[in-house]
Amino acid sequence: MNVYEQLKELILKNKTFLLTTHVNPDADAIGSELAMYFILKQLKKNVYIVNHSFTPYNLEFLDEEKIIERYDEKIHKKIFSETDVIILLDLNQINRVIRMENGIRKSKSIKICIDHHQDPEKFYDYFVGGSGYSATGEIIYEFIKQTEIVPFTNKIAYQLYTAIMTDTGSFRFDRTTSKVHRIIAELLDFGIVPMEVYDKVYDQFHFSRIKLLGNVLSSVKLDETKKIAYMILTNETQKKNNAVEADVDGFVNYCLSIQGVEIGILIYELNGSLKISFRSKGEIPVNKLAGEFGGGGHLNASGARLENTIIEDVLEKVLLKAQSYLRKES
Ligand code: 5GP
Ligand code: MN
Repeated sequence: MNVYEQLKELILKNKTFLLTTHVNPDADAIGSELAMYFILKQLKKNVYIVNHSFTPYNLEFLDEEKIIERYDEKIHKKIFSETDVIILLDLNQINRVIRMENGIRKSKSIKICIDHHQDPEKFYDYFVGGSGYSATGEIIYEFIKQTEIVPFTNKIAYQLYTAIMTDTGSFRFDRTTSKVHRIIAELLDFGIVPMEVYDKVYDQFHFSRIKLLGNVLSSVKLDETKKIAYMILTNETQKKNNAVEADVDGFVNYCLSIQGVEIGILIYELNGSLKISFRSKGEIPVNKLAGEFGGGGHLNASGARLENTIIEDVLEKVLLKAQSYLRKES
């Protein structure tokens, strides 16, 4: 039996499901959760979506019915023991669920991971996906297509379209295959208006985000090889601009728009800890680079969180490590 049929069987056999995803969820995370929710609801299952983080404000439109709950230890105390199946979407390391990690680790529920990142940590009983997929949303599409577990609906198509559109960088990243475009064509036939979705995700930010971007852009520097561009975002700048984590999304990509730059880095302070985002061009595996700091991700986009560290202590090390990943001139 292939993994999709196996997933179908697990779903049909069980009654209560908990869906969750990574900290600071993106549209692939939220869209995949909601698409899976709508599948399970069509099958009359009990389903909860509980996340460590709030849904970023620019993605709230996806959760029109306010299905997603934010994890609260007091309210959700029993959830890990009362569900038959926990489905973790769009994450490859269990510590990415932050406050929910302990509960999930201890839970006796069946754990299914649906993901498309490199090198998943083995914390699950079943894995569906692989790094060949452009988005977790594409895996969910494939699941429905192959098993016909439920018919596609407008609601499911909308979530999957948004998931794939965003995780492919609006259809430009490496894994944007002709197959992805065929999937998108099929989803569009449900009446999705690309301009509208794009506008909701990317063109409805707070005014303060643009001011913040201005600050970050003026902090950009090149290392001595001129192949690494890096940006810094301090707590102070974030406070001054009333920034939230969602506001920072996408800033690091500007590093790669500089001629000759192969690795882009954004380091930002986050309530006493640090978040580092890495981006690369070509074959430079920034998922491995992030791995050196306890993080991970994709070949060309990755990140890590560092507790109890300040920028000054880590910057030189990050640059040195990044330099060791640069392509050697032949
Ligand atoms: P971003 O820099 O946009 O936050 O994340 C880029 C990619 O790196 C995403 O695919 C995300 O899943 C991954 N990523 C970001 N932060 C972490 C982290 O702390 N740990 C791991 N394993 N992956 C991360
Ligand atoms: Mn994803």
